[in-house]
Amino acid sequence: MHDFWIRVSIPVALSALAALVIWGMFSAAIALVSMLVLLLIVMAYHARQLFKLGEWLKDARPETIPEAGGIWDEVFSQLYKMVKKHNQTKQKLAEELQHMEQATAALPEGVAILNEANRLEWFNPIAQQHFDLDAEHDIMQDITYLVRQPEFVEYIHESPSGKSGLGKPLLMRPLRHADMVLSIRLIPYGGDKRLLITRDITQFERVEAMRRDFVANVSHELRTPLTVVNGFVENLQDMPDLGQDDARRALHLMAEQTRRMENLVADLLTLSRLENDQSPLREETVDMSALLDEIYRDGRLLSGKKHTLQLEMQSKAKLLGNREELLSAFGNLLGNAIRYTPEGGAILLSWSERDGQPVFSVQDSGIGIAPEHIPRLTERFYRVDRSRSRETGGTGLGLAIVKHIAIRHQAKLEISSEVGKGSTFALVFPV
Ligand code: ADP
Repeated sequence: MHDFWIRVSIPVALSALAALVIWGMFSAAIALVSMLVLLLIVMAYHARQLFKLGEWLKDARPETIPEAGGIWDEVFSQLYKMVKKHNQTKQKLAEELQHMEQATAALPEGVAILNEANRLEWFNPIAQQHFDLDAEHDIMQDITYLVRQPEFVEYIHESPSGKSGLGKPLLMRPLRHADMVLSIRLIPYGGDKRLLITRDITQFERVEAMRRDFVANVSHELRTPLTVVNGFVENLQDMPDLGQDDARRALHLMAEQTRRMENLVADLLTLSRLENDQSPLREETVDMSALLDEIYRDGRLLSGKKHTLQLEMQSKAKLLGNREELLSAFGNLLGNAIRYTPEGGAILLSWSERDGQPVFSVQDSGIGIAPEHIPRLTERFYRVDRSRSRETGGTGLGLAIVKHIAIRHQAKLEISSEVGKGSTFALVFPV
């Protein structure tokens, strides 16, 4: 400060000194005029620097800062440092803001900020996608005008700003994405604002529905044989003097039902083992001709000479896979061919190659399958004809097991069929 006043006073002091010298040499009047002129020059210099400063302030950028000498040099250099620091801080804040935006954009959940009037202040791309928002036009629009589903509007109005966000979320299917299920939650923050969080739980809901269906199906499948067995047990209890033949018939039917339950439990255990990610595939090189011979012999026993069974080994390709699992998959396909082909029909088992890919196929001349059923055959408990499947001892899980084994061997299950003519089930393995 002290230094500043000294530097400002120097030109004035020099003017006064010059005036004194002129007074000594000439007269007081000339000295006064000279001093006035010198002071005017000093003032004009300051006015010029002030003008430059004013001009520069209109667009203050460090690279355009004016150059000046003396006291103004210091002023401009201080301003230069200030603007530079300000720009650096601004850039740092912009970068941090960008990071925040990138982080929220990367969130797997939709996030939107609502103000006290339920207007959208900001939203991330996932929220935009969930509600079909327009990033340009929907900012500061009332969310209840943009998403007009009554349950959503009610949820927004009934969750006051002060309430904690840990209440029950709203489950909703957006109008424009009817196949999507969203879980929506409102979290109050910063006084009167609210965070709207949306989560796509479609997959979770699907798995939940599958789990519920599965439990219902298993219970239903077990209840029928249990009811039959129970009925016979009650009959035997009520009629202790039942004839030997009747008792034997009852026991035979009971044994049939318990076998059915046993088959069901065995298939359920197989499926659960196959679905368990923790049970890795134990691979070995499988001798296909020995394996198919075994399948063929089992098939002949199961058919009981009711069908013409043929085995064609057109390829010598060996497989890298799990023998037990392959035996189970091939056995299931052959078992189905036998069960769904009336007496006298023909069944052809073959091991061949298609474009270098090994193919196992079972072709039958059986009842065939209508096209609308084909895509659903590998679903658990899906049957075209429930009673026929049961009569022949089917559990409804055979093809689900085949599909899992195929997946574990990177193979594809191909089904082609014509009602009344027969079906071909083929497992196409990778090269
Ligand atoms: P299931 O124990 O009922 O046979 P699967 O999962 O093995 O269960 O098969 C599902 C359904 O696919 C069967 O109920 C049957 O309707 C149909 N299906 C399977 N294989 C054949 C086939 N070779 N011919 C006709 N229909 C078949």
